[in-house]
Amino acid sequence: MSEPVIISTWHFGLRANEAGIPIIGGGGSALDAAEAVARSAESDRTTRSVGYGGYPDRTGRITLDASVMTHEGRCGAVAALENIEHPVSVARAIMEKTPHILLAGNGAYQFAREIGHQHKNLLTLEAQESYEKWTESESAAPRHADQDNHDTICILALDSYGKVAGCCTTSGLAWKMHGRVGDSPIIGAGLYVNGNIGAAAATGYGELAMRSLAAYRTVQLLHKGYSPQEATKECIRQIIEEIPGAFALQLALLALTPDGRFGGYSILPGFQIAAYSQGKNRLTDTPNFTSKNDE
Ligand code: ASP
Repeated sequence: MSEPVIISTWHFGLRANEAGIPIIGGGGSALDAAEAVARSAESDRTTRSVGYGGYPDRTGRITLDASVMTHEGRCGAVAALENIEHPVSVARAIMEKTPHILLAGNGAYQFAREIGHQHKNLLTLEAQESYEKWTESESAAPRHADQDNHDTICILALDSYGKVAGCCTTSGLAWKMHGRVGDSPIIGAGLYVNGNIGAAAATGYGELAMRSLAAYRTVQLLHKGYSPQEATKECIRQIIEEIPGAFALQLALLALTPDGRFGGYSILPGFQIAAYSQGKNRLTDTPNFTSKNDE
């Protein structure tokens, strides 16, 4: 039997983890726990970067990306999905009920409706007001990730049977171009799980994770014997070395191994992991490239 672990991204992960703790603590699966954490964040109207209450794209529409991946390497994802509160559950259903991995846009919406998801307007008054302010501002152009316009929730979980699983769900970069899809539904970029080795996920400027296949690369580093902390750090180091300008953008990685070790690393300061382990749910700061605070 393993000691269950749930790790998720950013400060709001702490609250969202609470939805997965009774599941994983009660002998539920890593996938069920991770999905419950994701669904909690998706319904939280105060979180500006995930699901209901998220910021829209530059045309005022909320388009959602999500993915799930299991210990055995099965996976499902949705991209540019609109008006559905729980994209993570649609991603899971794609994995479980269809021969495909990724559905996008209207096709993803139709599928969600067919399996019973309700149509819901996800744009809250608060998000609408921020959008209107943004359209009036001088910087009304697609932006890179900064502290105000991103924060996917990625969840990696280990259950008491020693199985790992992961989910990502996001409204993506605020004010992105309509039709833009980020890293979160791209298996290997925003999320990757190999039950024999471990799991990794990414949040921040998705284009960096897509160019580098950051989650897959991190799992390969785990395979080479790096610890989760070392693997995320080495992956960020390689990305900064390979991609001009990456050092000025935020990208954060987290990783978990089937023996319960976890860690994370980011380019810029501010990334936090919400970690439930050994019966406690705590927020931990992670080292980052910019502050070189891991020496
Ligand atoms: N990675 C996400 C994206 O690029 C953004 C985020 O993590 O907030 O869509």
